[in-house]
Amino acid sequence: MKLLEERKKILEISQKLLDAGVIHNGQGNVSMYNRESGLVAITPSAVPYEDRELEDICVVDLDGNIVEGKWKSTSETSMHLIYYKKRPDVTSVIHTHAPKATVFGVIGFEPLPMVLTEAAVGIGGEVPIAPYARPGTQELAEVTCKAVGNGNAAIMAHHGLITIGSTIELAFIATVSIESTANTVLMARSMGMDPIVLPDDEVKILRGLLMGYKPRQA
Ligand SMILES: [Zn+2]
Repeated sequence: MKLLEERKKILEISQKLLDAGVIHNGQGNVSMYNRESGLVAITPSAVPYEDRELEDICVVDLDGNIVEGKWKSTSETSMHLIYYKKRPDVTSVIHTHAPKATVFGVIGFEPLPMVLTEAAVGIGGEVPIAPYARPGTQELAEVTCKAVGNGNAAIMAHHGLITIGSTIELAFIATVSIESTANTVLMARSMGMDPIVLPDDEVKILRGLLMGYKPRQA
């Protein structure tokens, strides 16, 4: 079986996304790129999260052709592949319909501000809003990738959230810290207050802590 380790990781992170409440109704998709082989492990379309086994995860090439698997890959495959082609630092993409982050995608183009240390570490800068494009289209892949730019996330107008990372764990951390930030901003505004934004310099320092983190040698 090709990309066994990546398939395992995708199932593990999918469960964590479900547990975190950022996936509902079978929406969202997850992928990992194996740069050595040039192949991508990616979630299938039309198989419920709770029924997915290792063999249900698809393996595709960078053009989206199925290399191994019994299902069609997610209809948003091109929205994943675009990062693997354009960003040498990216090996994982997570797309969710995170409910609170998505609120910011229906009120205009105000980026999600950095108000929590958790988010400064996990994201490292405000999250832009990508303009609307129809789901499953190349246009959606392109407008979303443009909004992400050199960052690691964008909220997709009328749709959801995309995060990318050099590891799947970092993409996951970005997803949950964006959802947590959106929740905090919404709560502050429900009190009639605008949250106070962390200074840019402090956000940079906090992000540096995560990116410079090295696990202790065993
Ligand atoms: Zn979606």
